[in-house]
Amino acid sequence: TEACLSAIEGAGALNAFVHHTPEIALDQARAADARIKAGDAPAMCGIPLGIKDLFCTKGVPSQAASNILKGFKPEYESTVSQQLFDAGAVMLGKLNMDEFAMGSSNETSCYGNAVNPWRAGNDDTALTPGGSSGGSAAAVAADLCLGATGTDTGGSIRQPAAFVGITGIKPTYGRCSRWGIVAFASSLDQAGPMTKDVRDAAIMLQAMCGHDPKDSTSADLAVPDFEGMLTGDIRGKTIGIPREYHMDGMPDEIEALWGSGRQMLQDAGARIVDISLPHTKYALPAYYVIAPAEASSNLARYDGVRYGHRAKLAQGDGITEMYEKTRAEGFGAEVKRRVMVGTYVLSAGFYDAYYNRARKVRTLIKKDFEDVFAQGVDAILTPATPSAAFPLGQEVSDPVQMYLNDVFTVTVNLAGLPGIAVPAGVDGHGLPLGLQLIGRPWEEGDLLNTAYALE
Ligand code: GLN
Repeated sequence: TEACLSAIEGAGALNAFVHHTPEIALDQARAADARIKAGDAPAMCGIPLGIKDLFCTKGVPSQAASNILKGFKPEYESTVSQQLFDAGAVMLGKLNMDEFAMGSSNETSCYGNAVNPWRAGNDDTALTPGGSSGGSAAAVAADLCLGATGTDTGGSIRQPAAFVGITGIKPTYGRCSRWGIVAFASSLDQAGPMTKDVRDAAIMLQAMCGHDPKDSTSADLAVPDFEGMLTGDIRGKTIGIPREYHMDGMPDEIEALWGSGRQMLQDAGARIVDISLPHTKYALPAYYVIAPAEASSNLARYDGVRYGHRAKLAQGDGITEMYEKTRAEGFGAEVKRRVMVGTYVLSAGFYDAYYNRARKVRTLIKKDFEDVFAQGVDAILTPATPSAAFPLGQEVSDPVQMYLNDVFTVTVNLAGLPGIAVPAGVDGHGLPLGLQLIGRPWEEGDLLNTAYALE
């Protein structure tokens, strides 16, 4: 813990941690020492972690990287962070992210972006750590903590993990409690660990998940021993390669990476089959209707009354002006875009044309996956991202370009499936690239084991 605290001190330029909690960390570390001495050391005992700013942490600023939550210190702890603390983990501080987890580059944060610790060859252009869990990714990759929590609504664990060369798993929807995590799109949001490797991910995920009566979508299922399932033996497993993920214009190095991942799994004894997920091309548009729709509803609670920021009012201003001014000042541009898109697609005249249609598409996407799993496919291998980390500032002014980053990841959230990104190689400039494995629902143990074979 002390080593991490001093590494964090020296790494301010990465802007990964946005709230530092050294007193809490040292208290928790001392308590962990005592547990170890007493011979009662759970799996995460004394492990220093960073917590994404989307998680409510009791008495510690939890702002979802938004000005509208300025000054908000929750009275309660999120279930996931509480479970980590119960398992002995130590909180070093809160991690940077895109505002309300909306973004793929960490550039929508009210704290300014986190920075990717990697550089392309000799070029010292600063690169994005990805988003929305960009601070988590940068912190783990730069050894500021041993693991971090992330959340993934459309790729926000897997894309940043791939951009910095670490492992990140989004579990099956319902595996981790969403209680106490600031809601973005409630039918898609899931928490998950971001770690150095698959074994750490297995250990940390185990501590994070489990049934929580406070989240009605939390699954009442036993949590398997994920670490115990890491045998590396994948003989006889069937791995599907979806033809629709060969996108037009995909860089050769991504194709090559994908090919080498396929070869590794085959060499380890898996059977590789070509599969089709025919509705893949509709996933991105469906996601960018459903996610903003849910966001516009979830973000209605930031009204200047219940949380954080309230605008200064002029003489004669009423409640409407208070709402308007507070929201105009408190939300950033991307969040406003989502609220407007979401409100539009849910409006009486357009509900059927957009929101309802997107929901139907979502059902078809889910069925595509069910069909290939019914044919005996155990896991699906795809690239994690369509490129390596890109320069900060490059895409932020073009939202559609930014949304294209999520092309391989959003299908997994729409279908509620577990997906993991693992580092799998480097591009021509030495930047990390990741592969994604998608698994059957509730089979994170198997998925982690297949990912383990790719390490
Ligand atoms: N980049 C996606 C978005 O902006 C995904 C975000 C996420 O997974 N939280 O919506």
